[in-house]
Amino acid sequence: MLSHETNTFSNVRTDRAQFEARDLRYGGEIVEAYRGTGTCLGGMIRAAERLGATLVPSVAAAASPAGRVTREIYEHVKQRMLADLAAAGRLDGVLLDLHGAMVPEGIDDGEGDIVKAVRQTVGPDVPIAVTLDFHGNLGQDMVAHADLLHGYKTYPHVDMAERGVEATERLVQVIDHRIRPTAAWRKPPLLPPLGNQGTARGPMRRLYDLADRMEKDPKVISVSIFAGFPYADIPDAGLGIYVVTDDDRPLAERLASELERVAWEHRHEFVHSALPVKDAVARALAAPGRPIVLADMADNTGGGAAGDGTEILRELLRVGARGATVACIWDAAAVQSCVKAGVGSRVTLEIGGKVDDRHGAPLRVTGTVRTLSDGRFVHRGPMMTGLPGRLGPTAVLDVDDVKVILITHRWQTLDPEMIRFVGIDPLSEKILVVKSTIHYRAAFEPIAREIIEVDAPGLSSSNLARFDFRRIRRPIFPLDPDLAYEAV
Ligand SMILES: [Zn+2]
Repeated sequence: MLSHETNTFSNVRTDRAQFEARDLRYGGEIVEAYRGTGTCLGGMIRAAERLGATLVPSVAAAASPAGRVTREIYEHVKQRMLADLAAAGRLDGVLLDLHGAMVPEGIDDGEGDIVKAVRQTVGPDVPIAVTLDFHGNLGQDMVAHADLLHGYKTYPHVDMAERGVEATERLVQVIDHRIRPTAAWRKPPLLPPLGNQGTARGPMRRLYDLADRMEKDPKVISVSIFAGFPYADIPDAGLGIYVVTDDDRPLAERLASELERVAWEHRHEFVHSALPVKDAVARALAAPGRPIVLADMADNTGGGAAGDGTEILRELLRVGARGATVACIWDAAAVQSCVKAGVGSRVTLEIGGKVDDRHGAPLRVTGTVRTLSDGRFVHRGPMMTGLPGRLGPTAVLDVDDVKVILITHRWQTLDPEMIRFVGIDPLSEKILVVKSTIHYRAAFEPIAREIIEVDAPGLSSSNLARFDFRRIRRPIFPLDPDLAYEAV
C-alpha cells in the first residue's frame, strides 16, 4: 500500500514524518495490523486467506491528504516495494492498494509511475491488480500497466474491504487463466467538485446504478467510475471511467461510452452550493432538536485542507452559541499550551488559521482545558471499522460551552467516536461542527437531526472558482461552463 491524496494547493509537504504519523510499516507486521479491518488491505488479507493464497507483504504507507509527497519518502517506499518484488522469487501475481491522486514532487501521476515500475520489475506475464480510491485521477500508465483496477464504488467510502476482496479474487482468476481482463477507459472533460460526488444520491448514484446493471453481465468483470480529485492541479484531474470485461473489447468500449455519455449529460448535477457561514450558524441555532451538524466542507483534511479553519468557530462565539462542539482543529502548538496549563486551567490562546491564509485567521480565545488525551481511538462507524486512529496529543478547550477539540495529527472528522473519546456525547450537543465534505455522512447522518453544508473558506471547497488552476486540462466543466463535448 502506498496511499496519499495530494492537494497541490496545500503548502503542507507530505514528508516521512506525515507517513510515520499515520502508517509506515513493513513485512509481516502489515498483515497483523490490517487483518479484520474495513480497509482494502483488510479485504485482501481476508480473501487471500480464504483462497489459500500466500501473501508476501512488502510495505504499507499512508499519510493524511496534504501537499505534494516529498521525493525522499516516495522513492523510499517505491524502491522498497521494487526490492521486495525482486527478492520474492517467483510470484503468481501482485496486489497493490493505491489511491490514484498521489502527486509526488516532480511526478504528476504517482500511481502511474508505481504501476509502471512494478510492471517493469515483474515482467509482462505476472498479473497486477490494483485497488484505487473513488477520488483517483485515472491516467494512461495505471490503465496500461495494470491488469485490473478496482475503484471504490462508494463515497463515503464504505466498500474498501469489499474492493480488496474483489481485487484478490479476480487476480486469482487471472492467475488461473479463468478470465482475461480487457479494459476500456474514458476521461470526459469533467472536474466534479467534492460536494455532489456522494453516492447516496445525485449524479454518482445515477452512474453507479447504471454500472451495477452493467456488472450483472457475466462478461463484465468490473466497472469503476472515479469521481476524481479536483484539488490535484494536474492534467489527469477529473472524472474517469474504467470498464473491464472478460476478453470482450467491443463490449468494454460500448459500456465505457455509455457511461461517459450519461456523466456528460448530467454534468450540471455536479455543481454544488452551500450556505454562507453566518446563514448556516443562524439556521443551526434556530433549528429544532439536536444535534445539528454543520459540515465544514472546505476544511476537510481528508481533501488536503489544513484542518485549522476558524471561520465557523468565530461565528459561533460571535453569536454566543452554547452546547456546541467543533471537531477538530489541527493545532499542535495550542494542544501543547493546554497540556502545559493542565486540566481545569484557564488559558488564552491563538487557535487555528496558522497553516496558510486560506482557512481564516487565527482566533484568540479564552477558555478552560476540559480534557487531555493521547488521541488514541478506534473507528466505530461504517468507515475503516475497527482501525485504530491516532490524533496525537489532544485537548478539549471549553470556551463558554463551545468545546473545541484540538488535535496534533490531522484527521478528518468521519466518526462520532472522535468526539466521544474525549468525553463529549455527540447526541447531547446542539451543534456539531465537523470538518469533512462527505465522509462524515456515513456515521453522522443516522444521529443528526439536520445537516447543514457550510461554504466556509478552505482548500477542499466545492466552489472551484476559488482556485487558481494552472495545469489541469482546459477547457473543462464546470470551469468552462459552456464547453461543448461529444462523448464518443
Ligand atoms: Zn477518497
